Amino acid sequence: MKISMNTEKCANCEFCALSCPEIFAMNASGKAEIKTQRVPQFCLSACQLAIRGCPVDAISLE
Ligand code: SF4
Repeated sequence: MKISMNTEKCANCEFCALSCPEIFAMNASGKAEIKTQRVPQFCLSACQLAIRGCPVDAISLE
């Protein structure tokens, strides 16, 4: 599965980076970014938690 993010929408809350640090990180501007698009099976549920918890619906998985 591949993850994508609309960084323009990011509200800098850090929830995704805290939920799944294997996939998300905060950059120097305080915005979230994706470290790798392909989501390994072992962190799929953590990624789905990040998606559900993102307050601005900036993350999607397909
Ligand atoms: S959860 Fe959403 S708003 Fe919060 S840092 Fe991640 S992308 Fe940005």
